[in-house]
Amino acid sequence: MSGSPRFGALDRFRPLAALLVVALHTYPLADVSPDAEFLLTRVLARLAVPFFLMATGQFALLPLLQPGGACRLPRFLRKTGLLYGACILLYLPLGIYGGQYAGLTPLSAVRLLLFDGTYYHLWYFPAALLGVCLVLLLRRALGCAGALTAAALLYAAGLFGDSYYGLAARLPALQAGYAALFSLSSYTRNGVFFAPLFLLLGAALGGGALAVPRRAAGACLALSLLLFAGEALALRALAWPRHDSMAVFLVPAALFLYRLLLTCPCAERPALRTLSGLVYVLHPLCIVGVRGAAKVLRATDLLVENNLAHFLAVAALSFALSGALTLLLLRLRAHKKRPDPRRARAWVEVDGAALRENARALQSLLPPGCALLPALKADAYGHGAAFAVRALRRAGVQDFCVATPQEGAALRRAGARGEILVLGAVPEALLPLARRWRLSLAAADLEHARRLSAWGRPLRVHVAVDTGMHRLGAPAGDAGALAEIFRLPNLRIRGVFTHLCAADGASARDRAYTQAQLRAFQGALEALAARGIALPKRHALASAGVLAQPECAGDWARVGLALYGVPPAFARAAGAGLRPVLSLKARVALVRTLRAGECAGYGLAFSAARESRLAVLSIGYADGLPRALSCGAGCALVRGRRAPIAGRICMDQTLLDVTDIPGVAPGDEVVLLGEQAGARLSAWDVAGAAGTIPNEILSRLGPRLPRIPV
Ligand SMILES: *Cc1c(COP(=O)(O)O)cnc(C)c1O
Repeated sequence: MSGSPRFGALDRFRPLAALLVVALHTYPLADVSPDAEFLLTRVLARLAVPFFLMATGQFALLPLLQPGGACRLPRFLRKTGLLYGACILLYLPLGIYGGQYAGLTPLSAVRLLLFDGTYYHLWYFPAALLGVCLVLLLRRALGCAGALTAAALLYAAGLFGDSYYGLAARLPALQAGYAALFSLSSYTRNGVFFAPLFLLLGAALGGGALAVPRRAAGACLALSLLLFAGEALALRALAWPRHDSMAVFLVPAALFLYRLLLTCPCAERPALRTLSGLVYVLHPLCIVGVRGAAKVLRATDLLVENNLAHFLAVAALSFALSGALTLLLLRLRAHKKRPDPRRARAWVEVDGAALRENARALQSLLPPGCALLPALKADAYGHGAAFAVRALRRAGVQDFCVATPQEGAALRRAGARGEILVLGAVPEALLPLARRWRLSLAAADLEHARRLSAWGRPLRVHVAVDTGMHRLGAPAGDAGALAEIFRLPNLRIRGVFTHLCAADGASARDRAYTQAQLRAFQGALEALAARGIALPKRHALASAGVLAQPECAGDWARVGLALYGVPPAFARAAGAGLRPVLSLKARVALVRTLRAGECAGYGLAFSAARESRLAVLSIGYADGLPRALSCGAGCALVRGRRAPIAGRICMDQTLLDVTDIPGVAPGDEVVLLGEQAGARLSAWDVAGAAGTIPNEILSRLGPRLPRIPV
């Protein structure tokens, strides 16, 4: 929320609001005119705290009110609580000196901590904490409109303990009630009666409510301020106030002030937020500091007795101190943001949200009851198996398939608890590993199945059926062999599957072959059933099959490539609504200029036909960049444009011809696969240029590249 440039005016108003709070505590105009003083500090300055509460409402409360937002409550409580704790410690010596903690009882401790604050201005923190919690409870119990009504009623009740106390005092019962209340909280200006209304109004306005235009907001603000001033003067004349923090017309005044600020879009100034927060927190300390300094300098007449000079001195000290601290904090933050060493040379970025979206998109194509069994072999096609497990589990995926028991073990270590199928013909030496990690194995044919069974200990198995790929599986037509596998001891059969070998082809021959494979699979299942064998879960489709004929999926769909956002060949143009998950990036290490006729790289493979500029990239074939992309076959994106690869790709470095791209400089980010400023290099583009398929490009990305989730 706070990232939007629309809210810059709020940032700019914050220091003014902080200055008004300083005025509230130093009475700058008291010597000039009591009425001017009243209007400044009892009316105008009263807007400051509601403004801060409304900003808290917009930036802290509003996200919590969004669907699923309540999970961020602990973070808000922790952050604000820590800040409050630090302030309590900071003001502890002054509080002790001022007798704040004298005769502390459990009740007075609650009063100080939860309502009054342990120093006079610190009540804001518990009010914000309590107010936010109360609003969330009210919203849950009463809905949005109900919560707003309740907050308004609480505010009204607060009025009678504050500036309308003179009325409450006339009714003995009411007065007794408020007296009880005041033993717990010195004022009604707290997290129960005061904060909830402004927090909710801030959240509502931040969410787009009361979208009146700027001039109307300004006019309403002026009118509300007049009415507020009139109200305050009248209350003073009646001598009703017990305290003067709450008034009826304070609410519309704060509301229209906030709306007016929201109608002035300008860039955000986060530093001003820090500055004004610090001024708020530190100004009482500065008041003490100015008084102390005045005593030492024998300038009490000027710096303390003269209210205006006192105010100016306190404000100057508060802003100077807070400004210095803000600069220090900014320094520290900038220091934290120093360049990421993982992104210094060459790296892979993987987008978990895209992976989850793709999983959901593929799942939505499948018939009900069919689950995804994503292929996470080869380190999840180069994306990082642990990353993929974590992201997919968040999308509700439980089951996976891999190529080796070691890969299966890695998935278990990353938190996969469901089915893990090892797709290859696992040799005996790896069976202990498979059993230890509760992996399921493909029974690759009758012979292999017999060996699995003869190992002597129970194993989980999926029976592979060969329907025409002739790589793995007992032949679909050999019902006898298939049935024998099902009857072998020690095999806990959890699935039966086949694999299509022409499903991504578009030719008539490919399509006919695929249909024949699916028919053969169906025939084998029926033959098994006819022999009285209870069929386990079945699966037949990889990415291409799922996109072409999802209705044939059965109980599991073994999606790989599509899940990573790369559509199968026949869906390339349409894209199938999938988002690429992986980007491959590197940096320009150096830029050099070649005269016409000069050569570059191994074997003099590049020769400059004109004066040329070559960027040296910090990535090579040892990182998985196919050497077949050498000599202009492939390209990379730099400054949002395509530049051809110059000469032969080296083991760790690559030359890029950037003659036609102005401004390329060392440190520039280069995209070898992915997007940059609207330009795109898809896995299919790279595979096409290298004469291979995207699967190979992705799965061969090397271990030297850090995988960075984004
Ligand atoms: C790799 C593999 C898959 C996944 O294939 P994609 O085309 O990447 O979806 C499915 N089944 C088997 C048997 C595999 O080996």
